[in-house]
Parts: sequence; C-alpha cells; structure tokens
Amino acid sequence: MDDRETRIAHNLDTVRNRMNAAVERAGRPADAVRLVAVTKTVGVEDIERVARHGVRMVGENRVRDGLDKISRVSAPLEWHMIGALQRRKVRDTIGRFGLIHSVDRVKLADEIQKRAGSAGVVVPVLIEVNTSGEASKHGVSPDRARDMAEYTAGLNNIRLRGLMTMAPFVTDPEDARPCFVRLRKCAQEIEDISVPGVDMAELSMGMSNDYEVAIEEGATLVRIGTAIFGPRQG
Ligand SMILES: *Cc1c(COP(=O)(O)O)cnc(C)c1O
Repeated sequence: MDDRETRIAHNLDTVRNRMNAAVERAGRPADAVRLVAVTKTVGVEDIERVARHGVRMVGENRVRDGLDKISRVSAPLEWHMIGALQRRKVRDTIGRFGLIHSVDRVKLADEIQKRAGSAGVVVPVLIEVNTSGEASKHGVSPDRARDMAEYTAGLNNIRLRGLMTMAPFVTDPEDARPCFVRLRKCAQEIEDISVPGVDMAELSMGMSNDYEVAIEEGATLVRIGTAIFGPRQG
C-alpha cells in the first residue's frame, strides 16, 4: 500500500467508526446507514483505492465527470448522481447511475421518465428538498415535497426511494440538526399518505461536517468526500 492509500484507509476507518458510534447512540440497527464516498474532483486512482477498502457506492456531482470515471474505473461500484442535473444531460445518465439524489422539479422528473421510458428501464431517484431555505440551495421547499412525491409516483419509469437534503455549512454541526429533522418529517408525511409506488426507504443527508448529527436524525445514506479524501483542489 502506498502512503496515499494508507492515509485514505485510515480516514475511512475514522469515518466508519464515527458512523457506527452515531448509529449506536441513536439506537438504530448497525446496518441502517450506508456510506456514499463523494468522488467529485477525485482522481481515478483514489477511487480505486477506496474500492479496495470496501467502498461500494460513490457519488459524483457532474454528469460528464461521472461518465468519464465510470468508463475508467474497473472496480465494481454503484455510481450515484448527487449534483444538480440539467435536463439535456438526463439521457446520458440513464442506466449509468444507480440512484439520482437530486430530482428537484417536475420538468426534470418528466425528462427522466421520458428517457427511462424509451430505454425500457426504471430509474431510482430521491427528491431533493431545500430544508434550510437558503436561496443558493437546490431542492423543492418542504411544503412542496409531498406534491412532488405524488407527481413522481405517477411516472412509471421512475422509482421514488426517498429524500435528500444539503444542510448549510455551519461551524457547529448541531446547527444543521433542524434541517435533518425537517427532512425526516417530510418523509414521514409522504409515507403517511401512502401513495402506491412510493417508499421513503432512503434519507440522503449528512456530509463530512455533519454526518454524525444526520445519522442521529435518521440518515440512511451519508455523502462524504473531504473526510475521506482530504480537501478538494480548486
Ligand atoms: C460535495 C458534496 C458532498 C460531500 O461534501 P464533503 O463536505 O466533502 O463531505 C455531499 N453532497 C453533495 C451534494 C456534494 O456536492
């Protein structure tokens, strides 16, 4: 193992230990939370490195970068699209990404439906919710999440699997907690109306700075980049 790999393996251990501790504090089952290693700006060699240390899911935020890496990484990974998705890029994502975390508008859902329909596949998605109210964040507002879920449920080439949010960057991760609580409540509300074809199995929330709090509030997928790979360049 080279120095870089030793470092990354150490970081992964730290993240996993903290994830486990948070899961335990919350009294949740040990396998309730899975790690999505965020590989945006990360090179192919580092992606191979984390794959050798048990990472199975990776998240990219740009379609082109993601597709490029998918074609170059030989490890068997499930690739997730976690970033803002433009309609004209949707076609290229079909069949390539195991989960799209960032469905945040009807027109995007329609485009996924159209492209998945013509490819004859069903695309698993999450609805992104803007739980902080920050204008710079993507996502539907919490009070529109239910409508969006019902709409998406009517599209038969889309499988709605849950919700995703990004908390604001705060120094004290406790300050992110209300966003995670809000997302959990949104999911609960949607589950309560029990729309056929909708399950709220996944809550994608928590990043390097706040994943422990997110896990305490019910995250099932945490998206972690910096804590594994170090600060991003550029
Ligand atoms: C970059 C990014 C992350 C990971 O952020 P870190 O702070 O590096 O862990 C998670 N989710 C999304 C949507 C991102 O764009």
